[in-house]
Amino acid sequence: MKKWYDEEYEWEIEVAGFLRGQQTEHYCRNGEEIGDKYTCTYGCPVNADGQGICSKVMLIMFPIMEAVRSGGDLENIGGHERYSQNVVCPDGCVLFKMTANKTGNENFHKGHFYDS
Ligand SMILES: [Zn+2]
Repeated sequence: MKKWYDEEYEWEIEVAGFLRGQQTEHYCRNGEEIGDKYTCTYGCPVNADGQGICSKVMLIMFPIMEAVRSGGDLENIGGHERYSQNVVCPDGCVLFKMTANKTGNENFHKGHFYDS
C-alpha cells in the first residue's frame, strides 16, 4: 500500500464501555475490551497491534467521518463536541468514543494539492 494523500483529519477511537454486562461474548465477536484504542485517517481503524476494529461498526462510523470531512459539527447530530461522538456497534454492546483531530493538511477535493 502506498498512501499518497496526507489526510485532513485523523481519528482516535476508544472503547468507552459495554451496554450489556462486562464482556462482549455472544454480542460482538471482535472481542473489544474497554480502553482499547484504534486510530486511522481514511482507512479503517486499527489498534497498536494492527488489528482492525469491528467491521460492523464502520457502518455507523463512516457517515460520521464524512460529516466531519465535509466541515460539519458533530454536536448537531448528538456529539458532545464538534469532533467527538459516541456510537454503539450494531451488535448492540460495545460503546465507542470517536474523536477527530484536524491535521492541518489540505482538503482532498478543494486543496488542489496534486495540481502541478
Ligand atoms: Zn461489533
